[in-house]
Amino acid sequence: MTQIELVELHKSYPRQEHPAVAGVSLNVEPHTLLALLGPSGSGKSSILKLIAGIEPPDAGDVRLDGQSVRDVPAHRRGAVLMFQKAYLFPFLSVAENIAFGLRVQGARRTTIRAEVTRMLDLVELPGIAAQRPAQLSGGEQQRVALARALVVRPRVLLLDEPFSSLDAAVRQTLQEAVRRIQRELGITTILVTHDRSEAMALADRVALLDRGAVLAADTPRELFLRPPTRRAARLMGVATFLRGEVAGASLQTSLGTFAICAERRRDGPATYAIRPEHLRLCGEPGRNTLPARILAHTFRGEQSEYLLQVGDQTLRARVPASSADGLAGQVFVQLPPAHLFPVCDDASDTDPKGACEYA
Ligand code: ADP
Ligand code: MG
Repeated sequence: MTQIELVELHKSYPRQEHPAVAGVSLNVEPHTLLALLGPSGSGKSSILKLIAGIEPPDAGDVRLDGQSVRDVPAHRRGAVLMFQKAYLFPFLSVAENIAFGLRVQGARRTTIRAEVTRMLDLVELPGIAAQRPAQLSGGEQQRVALARALVVRPRVLLLDEPFSSLDAAVRQTLQEAVRRIQRELGITTILVTHDRSEAMALADRVALLDRGAVLAADTPRELFLRPPTRRAARLMGVATFLRGEVAGASLQTSLGTFAICAERRRDGPATYAIRPEHLRLCGEPGRNTLPARILAHTFRGEQSEYLLQVGDQTLRARVPASSADGLAGQVFVQLPPAHLFPVCDDASDTDPKGACEYA
């Protein structure tokens, strides 16, 4: 039942040009899982270290249930960290690895035995208590690491890209296990990842991080479908932006006038964006279409990806497989009004190319 509050956290490392963490404020509600999503070097691991107490912040505060933990040493914070690699003790058995934290706390032998069994059941690995880490697969080692982290009943679970070294099938079952266990125990969790679909699938809320700052924090769905700024949109995989003047239900640009939805619209200069999978390809001009030429086509199974020339720029469209079969050469790309959404222009990311930008 722990709420995590990050208040204006700052952290710079010596001899680094930019701060690793530049004024991060976030709330993680009790029982929920927050994903910190961002590219490599955006400060994700640094934030976890500040919460765990491995590094001190230069400024700002970490509060658990409203209480500052700034002066609480790492081992008393009740926050456990799990990494990409399991870091199990190689010469101890699985049971001894899991028991380690309880031994340090001086727990009774019967308690330890019961808790180890409970943890092995929880991570769905009964019957391997006597094995050594080297006898286990990567996924099993991560399960043991999770059991070892949870056995001390921490207030907060911090996961630093714990699935990234696993192959796709193992990764998915372990992701599902982590989510089930997180819900079962109700433990407040922060998951660090650079994998967008992992963040979407596992988190109650996602905070999008770039250059040490939170660009946006919202539910996975809202952040995916309606990233609020151009930079956030880019990190969420959006690459098509249209700049123009909103007048009523239309966006007037130098490429033509586009119908937009009434939702959240305000007259005046604006930038609209659209996700690549919401673009349509057609053989005839129609509502909200732009003439385009197919430069390349990649079959990706469930979807087909098209590289298109639109004006003097290129644009990637992802359409359901076979929906654009038979199209070649000169086509029309359609931007359905329902999928065009407004984004704020970030001060550091202004549009250098005028009316539209794809890529
Ligand atoms: P992420 O986990 O998102 O990849 P990190 O928090 O590890 O990002 O790093 C953020 C920035 O801080 C990077 O530029 C990284 O090089 C720098 N950094 C991280 N840890 C240290 C350290 N111990 N000493 C110096 N620079 C560091
Ligand atoms: Mg990291």
